[in-house]
Amino acid sequence: MPETAERKEFQATAKMKAVMGKYFMEFVKGPEEGRKTAWCTSVGPAELLRALGFNVHFPENHGAMLGATRMATDLIPLANARGFSPDICSYLTSDVGSYLKGESPFQKMNMTGPPKADVLVFNTNQCRDVKDWFQFYAREWDVPCVGIHTPRAIGDLDDSILDDVARQTEALVEPLEAVAGVKLDPDRLRQTIDLSRRCTVLWKAVLDTAANVPSPVTFFDGSIQMGPAVVLRGHQDAIDYYEVLLAELEERVADGVGERFRIYWEGMPIWGKLRSLSQQFLGLKACVVASTYCNSWIFEDLDPDDPFRSMARAYSSIFICRSDDRKEQYIDRMVEKFKIDGILYHDAKTCPSNSNSRYQMPQRLHQKLGKPYLVVNGDLNDLRLYSEEQTRTNIEAFVEQLAER
Ligand code: SF4
Repeated sequence: MPETAERKEFQATAKMKAVMGKYFMEFVKGPEEGRKTAWCTSVGPAELLRALGFNVHFPENHGAMLGATRMATDLIPLANARGFSPDICSYLTSDVGSYLKGESPFQKMNMTGPPKADVLVFNTNQCRDVKDWFQFYAREWDVPCVGIHTPRAIGDLDDSILDDVARQTEALVEPLEAVAGVKLDPDRLRQTIDLSRRCTVLWKAVLDTAANVPSPVTFFDGSIQMGPAVVLRGHQDAIDYYEVLLAELEERVADGVGERFRIYWEGMPIWGKLRSLSQQFLGLKACVVASTYCNSWIFEDLDPDDPFRSMARAYSSIFICRSDDRKEQYIDRMVEKFKIDGILYHDAKTCPSNSNSRYQMPQRLHQKLGKPYLVVNGDLNDLRLYSEEQTRTNIEAFVEQLAER
């Protein structure tokens, strides 16, 4: 198959664009209708914020948009000039650069940029950068910044951790009520958690269709299709969308294209290169069928009958905050479930928290599973840290290695 091969678009994508467009429009309508805006980290307590009636903005989503539109590379230096190192999270630096320059993909939707926050709410389950990122805006706008400090490198998720994180989450209610100007309705919180869990079940089912051979969906598709699971969990629109997408994928299973090899992507996407990487793998008939990244928005532990403790469990059990042995067990299960032939690790220069090739994990897993692996050096947003030519050559050699086996 030539490397210019194109993958068939999903019919559901038009609906996704409509759903996402409606979500973004709420940032205009919300303040007009008296609703407050909360910024939330991507694995922060979104259900709590929704139940309190906030419009919820996820700055990492804006960061990914800046990466995908390749605006990031020009914007990052502005944040560097204001004291944010080029070595730290390039979502942070591109988002701050966007704010400083007043340029954003939101302008294509007739908005000046992301909505100004009335409150910023973080969870350090993923990294420390999110707190530093939010504190910058809290100082800029003189608004509160509150959050949850989750331990990292968690082995056993025991009661002491769950009690602590649940207590921290519950302690957010009072300051958030003060900003929202309403009292938390426990029924509304339960309903929101129920909606969030239903979204999770559907999103997992979408990703699980990739266990079919050949797979009807790739990691590159998933990186786009995950939008509603990230920004609309706790909302009926996300559920409606994934029902449509899942039906289409189930149909596609029957007419999947041939694939010679099945690859697992570990680490962040390279947002500005999703399309060219997707095309290269398609041309090589090597399908990147599963990833840690897309699976990170599956929160099966959410339980409407136990809101705070189940949120604590769901958000403290995500891959990124687990110990290396737990991460390896997880990848081991994924390799088996998705019938993986080889693993690609993306070492994202500015995201050490989501780069797992730095402390011998590929070697350990290779020894255990016997699967070939490739480490790609790059970055989520800063394309100055990525060599396209080198990566293309390395991927070709990797696929040849799989063929030789
Ligand atoms: S996990 Fe990585 S990409 Fe995400 S906010 Fe933290 S440093 Fe940035």
